[in-house]
Amino acid sequence: MMIIDGSEGEGGGQMVRNSCALSLVTGQPFRIINIRAKRSKPGLMRQHATAVEAAAAISGSTCSGLTVGSCDLTFHPGTARAGDYHFAIGTAGSTGLVLQTVLMPLLLADGPSRLVLEGGTHNMLAPPFDFIERCFLPIINRMGPRVSARLVRHGFYPRGGGRIEVEIAPAPLAPVDCTKRGALLGVGAQAAYCGLPREIPQRMLDRARKDLPNWEAADFAMRQLPEDQGPGVILMLEARYEGATEIVSGFGQMGVTAERLGKTAAARMRGYLESDAFAGPYLADQLVLPFVLAGGGAFTTVKPSQHLITAIDIAQRFAGRAVRLEQQSEGGHRVWVR
Ligand code: ATP
Repeated sequence: MMIIDGSEGEGGGQMVRNSCALSLVTGQPFRIINIRAKRSKPGLMRQHATAVEAAAAISGSTCSGLTVGSCDLTFHPGTARAGDYHFAIGTAGSTGLVLQTVLMPLLLADGPSRLVLEGGTHNMLAPPFDFIERCFLPIINRMGPRVSARLVRHGFYPRGGGRIEVEIAPAPLAPVDCTKRGALLGVGAQAAYCGLPREIPQRMLDRARKDLPNWEAADFAMRQLPEDQGPGVILMLEARYEGATEIVSGFGQMGVTAERLGKTAAARMRGYLESDAFAGPYLADQLVLPFVLAGGGAFTTVKPSQHLITAIDIAQRFAGRAVRLEQQSEGGHRVWVR
């Protein structure tokens, strides 16, 4: 059985989710020890446990050590089956991260699936719905499958209560070349909020605008959501290229000023605009699994994160394929699967 030391690499929840997904598509059982050893509260949190439960539920897999707080999990994979699945995370735990766990196995399953996921849709340290819909899924669709996602209700931390629905028409994943992002088609900034004074998202937008002087006033928009979906606020800065879309997010949080969120998000967006990378830092770690399962293809990205390096390491171990990460220019990198 493959033993994974969860204290290595980035040492967080992504190792658990990626291992479950890869175990289901390769049929290899695994045991992961020292789960999330690098986090202040180690072990599985509710949202990681839900992701593993979801992986087991779509496949009849069996697990031991699957409890909140567990640092040692063993997973014996079954076979992923197409179906109509509903997973409620119960807290503001990220729906996007549960999707990350079950999407690859369902893409390779025996028929179309429909997923309803309830929990957080726009929470920190996870892909917001808009990122999944406009940055990640278009690349999956370019590889062959047809996946569409719909946001029914926003869910913010700490209340949750969001809902997304995903339709999956599977197909073998074909290698794609994502090394050139093409010409810039447009940019946009949106501050979506509810249950908070309007001046908070306005201050986020004002600050981002100051640091993105080439963007037009018309590129900045406020969106008020129904009161019962909050309280919450998110700033999303979006750049659309012919081949790629990047969304940089600033998640409203207690103790962080609106100006600081706007400034940080704008700086990160400027970093992406000034590079010529296809994938930003988050998209890069999320592309590793589909590229490895496609058995080929390449993408360019910015400076590699620990998440990217760890995702490559885990994927190589399960899939037995070499994934190369090469520096191309100052800051510019290329990831390719042989
Ligand atoms: P832990 O609490 O152990 O850090 P986690 O399960 O909450 O674990 P990570 O292991 O850090 O989270 O993985 C987070 C995932 O969410 C990564 O795939 C990362 O690319 C993605 N992600 C985080 N923030 C964003 C963002 N702002 N936009 C898009 N994707 C994001």
